[in-house]
Amino acid sequence: MSLQPNKSTNAGSPTTPLWNPGAILRVIDTKRTKKLTYNVTCVGRAARKYGAPCAWAIEDQSPEQAAAAVNILDNMAKRPPTEVTHDQLETLTHHCLCSYHTHQIASATGELKERLQPEVQHHRTRTAQEAQHAYTIHQVSQALSKINLEMQNVARLTKSMGIVNQTESAAGDPGAGGDEGSGTTQGQAANSSRNP
Ligand SMILES: [Zn+2]
Repeated sequence: MSLQPNKSTNAGSPTTPLWNPGAILRVIDTKRTKKLTYNVTCVGRAARKYGAPCAWAIEDQSPEQAAAAVNILDNMAKRPPTEVTHDQLETLTHHCLCSYHTHQIASATGELKERLQPEVQHHRTRTAQEAQHAYTIHQVSQALSKINLEMQNVARLTKSMGIVNQTESAAGDPGAGGDEGSGTTQGQAANSSRNP
């Protein structure tokens, strides 16, 4: 049962099954010893089996009926289990009842609906977790971009302070230059006195 399909694969191929309705609704019986094409099983309850599932292979009665059931299952699998409608379940059930059990349509549809519920719940929980996960990533990403912005501000501030320092030293040059001038004069004098 593959319930966690690759999202990127999914985006590329809309026909990738999202879940396995045949197994979840127990209308596909792959454990039959007799090899069949569809393996659609009657979901009716057999009185001769004391109310146990009839489990007759539908295609032994009608391959078209089995094919119609598989077609519905394929369509169901393309959408999340939360989007299965009552009509869809009823039509499926109609195709999954042998001629002896067609009268059980209401109770059998109800049974399929019950089998679907845990999968619906599972899907909702998973969706909520994914939403929480996405929100956490969003929050972390926001925090990171905020930090990045602060870093940029700090860098800008540091840079502008550097420019101010340079400007300050440039502005101080004339005065300092005057002092330096006397210093230079002294230095020149010292230098010249050192000269032979
Ligand atoms: Zn039956």
